[in-house]
Amino acid sequence: MNKTYLQLYADFIVKVGVNVRPRQTLLVRCPVTMPEFAHACVKAGYEAGAKEVIVRWEDEKLERIRLEMGAEADLCAHKPSELRSWLDYAEDPDGCCTLAIHAADPEAYAGLDAGKLNRVSLARRTFMKSWQEYTMNDRIQWCVVAVPAPGWAKKVFPDLPEAEAVEKLWSVIFDVCRVSTGDPVAAWREHVAKTKARRDQLNAWDLDRVRLQSANGTDLTIGLAEDASWEGASSVAENGAEFIANVPTEEVFCAPHRDRVNGTVCGTKPYVYNGQLIEGWHVTFRDGKVVEHGADKNGELLGELLTTDENANRIGEIAFVPASSPINRSGVLFFNTLFDENAACHIAFGAGYPTNIRGGAKLTRAQLMEKGLNDSAIHEDVMIGAPDTRITGVRKNGEEVTIFENGEWAF
Ligand code: ZN
Ligand code: ZN
Repeated sequence: MNKTYLQLYADFIVKVGVNVRPRQTLLVRCPVTMPEFAHACVKAGYEAGAKEVIVRWEDEKLERIRLEMGAEADLCAHKPSELRSWLDYAEDPDGCCTLAIHAADPEAYAGLDAGKLNRVSLARRTFMKSWQEYTMNDRIQWCVVAVPAPGWAKKVFPDLPEAEAVEKLWSVIFDVCRVSTGDPVAAWREHVAKTKARRDQLNAWDLDRVRLQSANGTDLTIGLAEDASWEGASSVAENGAEFIANVPTEEVFCAPHRDRVNGTVCGTKPYVYNGQLIEGWHVTFRDGKVVEHGADKNGELLGELLTTDENANRIGEIAFVPASSPINRSGVLFFNTLFDENAACHIAFGAGYPTNIRGGAKLTRAQLMEKGLNDSAIHEDVMIGAPDTRITGVRKNGEEVTIFENGEWAF
């Protein structure tokens, strides 16, 4: 892999993506298979003035053994120290920020008991919720990125030998993350400015609802939550630092009203859930709730997802991504939500982002629910954008506006 690009990528992610402020602690989660990239990020973190950069290694092979052999009750039990090991940094007066480096093999847990996996993962999310609120509410700067670990790269390029698959995926990541421009900081400055302009126009229209249609059978009307606000490109943490929560990001997204979603939507890309693949799926909503669903592959898994908790069968996000996004243009199916969600318009089952409600970061979950923002232990993005997607909006004053035509921004 191109070493210059590797350090450019790490520098961009840490200094612009996370935007580490002097004296903050940077908490990094990285797969054990990718130490070189973690080292590059640690170096960038100290250069940016971090008090300390802490790397938490993740090992999905180890995790698979644990999930397979551990008893469910024991896997669902957590020690307070696990949560404190994150909260201690969040509560430190100097503050913290976090970088999650993903590289998961999309089928790391294939063949394991999907119900058990789901319950274990729900127990963990519930236990960790007070830490997750720091990122869900943009209280601290956070950033999610990906690197090509061998297991994942082989899934994306199954015909190549492992080393070549890793090489190839690095080069695709450098391209779609604008690193191969040689100046990712400048390329992103331009991209963020364009995305902000679209976000601002959507907010200026003061939309009541949006309708998505495609020849594949999708006809979905989504009412927006009260005081809903379109977001995109960059976010601002409580300390005023601007950060980019996902690299790459091509989306402009908003909070649906949890009771005002009606119609049918068809998935346009396979979807990875708990290390297993759901393909060829569709769902039908009535008054916000899924009333019918199915899939060509792993339909029962979709059922598990939708029954994770009381509100997992409602949506918390609607996001617009043009078909011309670099991720979609690459023609690669990544089997990784971070990339695939930036290739197509998507919705997310489960919780909405409080930051998609004006003043929402200061409201309780109950107050947000009053405004129509969904709450759940899950937030699962699923792709619904097609090459012919048409999106129209209805403003609160009744006027109709065209948002997407043939899968592209229409304004
Ligand atoms: Zn999204
Ligand atoms: Zn999402």
